[in-house]
Formats: sequence, structure tokens, C-alpha cells
Amino acid sequence: MEASRHIHIAELSRRTVNPLIFWGIITVVLTVVLILIINAAGIQSGIYLLFLVPVIAYLVIMGFFVGYVSKLNRERNRLLAEQVREEGARAGEFKKLNQELETYAKQLFDKDFELTLANKRLQNLEQAKSKFVSVTTHQLRTPLSAVKWTFHMLLQGSLGPTTPDQHNFIEKGYESTQRMIAIINDLLNVDYMEADRSDYNFLPVDLLPLIESILFEFTNQAESKKITLKFDKPSSVLPPVAADPIKLSMVLENLLDNAIKYTPQGGQVTVSMSDDRMNSARSNLEVVISDSGIGIPPAERDKIFPRFFRGSNAIKVQTDGTGLGLFISQDIIEKHGGAIWFESAVGKGTQFHFSIPVHRLSK
Ligand code: ADP
Repeated sequence: MEASRHIHIAELSRRTVNPLIFWGIITVVLTVVLILIINAAGIQSGIYLLFLVPVIAYLVIMGFFVGYVSKLNRERNRLLAEQVREEGARAGEFKKLNQELETYAKQLFDKDFELTLANKRLQNLEQAKSKFVSVTTHQLRTPLSAVKWTFHMLLQGSLGPTTPDQHNFIEKGYESTQRMIAIINDLLNVDYMEADRSDYNFLPVDLLPLIESILFEFTNQAESKKITLKFDKPSSVLPPVAADPIKLSMVLENLLDNAIKYTPQGGQVTVSMSDDRMNSARSNLEVVISDSGIGIPPAERDKIFPRFFRGSNAIKVQTDGTGLGLFISQDIIEKHGGAIWFESAVGKGTQFHFSIPVHRLSK
């Protein structure tokens, strides 16, 4: 369609008779006809010239004028033809692009379909994995708890006296079982989290006694590494926070456990609390757990919270660990409407902070 229009306009100027020739012929024909008429009428030559000259002059001037207009017309037609040719070429390009686009759209649609299928397969696999983890961990926890209590009774001497060597071995067995139970608990917690089965029961919680009781749980672990465990209590009375005490205890336990695990013998771990109600419109309390430990390498800063990640320096000092503690803690704090973050310097220590909203009636 575009091409035929293009030929039509291009041919137009070629097929039209040159108007100057056309007008010349008309002038000659008219002059001859006039001479014939004048001669036939028998008019004298003087008058005849008086009449003929202006007519011929008029015809010649008109001829030039027509020639000039037709030249302009031809130029306009040429430009028009050029424009149509360019448009035709562009239309061709558009058509090609359109075809390519259609091909890409089709490929995209196919890929989308493949992705949906792969995603479905992954979801099925994920479900199977979760079910497997859930069942195995549940099944493992009960016998492990029994083993732990047997070791406990042996250590207490409830099953008869033991030699110092036997006591040492039993203690190691007890600690290993405890670590295994902790790993299983982490796996179960993640399983609950992913299945969105964790129930939260928000209550007004007084952080001070909660922190004190958890610090007490860690006294032995800290003492065994000669680590000074300190609590910088706030100078004023702080309001209770809105929290699920069991879940919040898990966060404190994870952070304290890490601080002690990743601090070398003779180091220091300090817990402090502050109230940022004056600085923040959100009315939060902030808890900081600082240690003088190995620190977090700057290159690994962004990988610390995602699940299963273990720091390159952490693996060297503590071979067992799941890389789930911070993942679980972050989820718990976020579900409380709070935030968790850290500052760290390799070889100097780490400070983990979390903030949590004050209970509404206490603001
Ligand atoms: P895990 O302790 O089992 O490795 P976490 O999720 O609790 O798992 O911690 C993830 C990683 O974060 C650790 O492997 C370690 O590299 C880093 N990390 C956490 N707490 C500390 C800390 N107090 N000091 C140094 N590194 C830490």
C-alpha cells in the first residue's frame, strides 16, 4: 500500500508533460488562430499588430508564470515522494521490529510457563523437605531429652557414685546432648516460622527481671570460658514492653549464646538497656548485647541474618552451629514491630541491638 503510493507520486512528475512546452504550443496555436481570424475579418495590419502584440505578450508572461508554478509543484512532488519513501522504509523497520517483539513475547510466555512449572516443583520439594525436617526433629527431640536427663541424673549422683574420669565423660555427653537439643529446637522454630504456625501472645513484659533470669542461665557457660558477664542496669524505672515473653527470651538467649560463643577466653559480655522514648515517636526500649569477641567481617555484614549463614571466622572458633539463631531472632523482633541491628569490628567485638515497642498503656 505504502509502496504503490510512493510509485504513484514519483511517477507523477515524470508522466506530466512539461508545462512550458504545453504553454508554448498553446501560444503558437492561439497566435495562428488569431492571425487567421484577423485575416478572415480583413482587419488592417496596424490595428492587427496593436491587438496581436499584447495578446502574445500576455501569453508569454503567463507561460513563464505557469512554468515557475509547475517547477515549484515538481519540487514539492519530489520532496513528497522522498518523504513517502522514508516513511515506507520506516514502516518496514517497524514491521520487522513488531515481528521480533512478537517472537520475544512468545519466548517470554514459554519461559514464564516453564518458570511456573519449576516453581510448583520447588514448592512441592520445599513442602516435602519441611515435612521431613518437622517429623525427624520431633522424633529426635524426645529420645534426646531422655538421654540428657539420664546424663543429668548420673552427674547428680542419683544413679550411684562415679569416678572423676567417668564424671568428666558424662559431663561431655551431657553438653553434647544439650547442643544437639538446641540445634533441633532451632530447626523446629524455623519450621514453625515458615509454616506460620508460631503463636504470639503479647503481654506487658518487664524487661529487667527477664534479662536477669536469662543472664543467670548463662553464668556457667560464661564461667567455663572465664568471661565476665555484666548487666548495666538502667538508672530509672523503665516501662514494660509489649512482648511474647517466651519468644523474646529466645532472642535474648540466641544473642547471649552467640556473644559468649564468639568471645575468646577471658573476654567480656555486657547487657544494657535504654529508653528511646524521648528521641523516637515510636516509643521503644532498646537492649544492647556487647562482647569483646572475634567480630563480624565487613564483607559478611549483609549475610549474617539470612538462614544457614555462618561467618568464616565463626566456623573456625565454633565448629557446630546452625546459622539459624539470628534468622529466628530477626523474625521474632520484626513480629513484635521492632528492629534488630549490629555494629562490629573484627578482633575487637560486636554489639547487637534490638528495639521493641513499649506496651501501649505504659507510654
Ligand atoms: P550460628 O551461631 O549457629 O552460626 P547465628 O544465626 O546465631 O548462627 O549467627 C550467624 C552468624 O553470625 C554466626 O555464624 C557468626 O558468623 C555471626 N555472629 C553472630 N553473633 C556474633 C557475635 N556476637 N560475634 C561474632 N559473630 C557473630
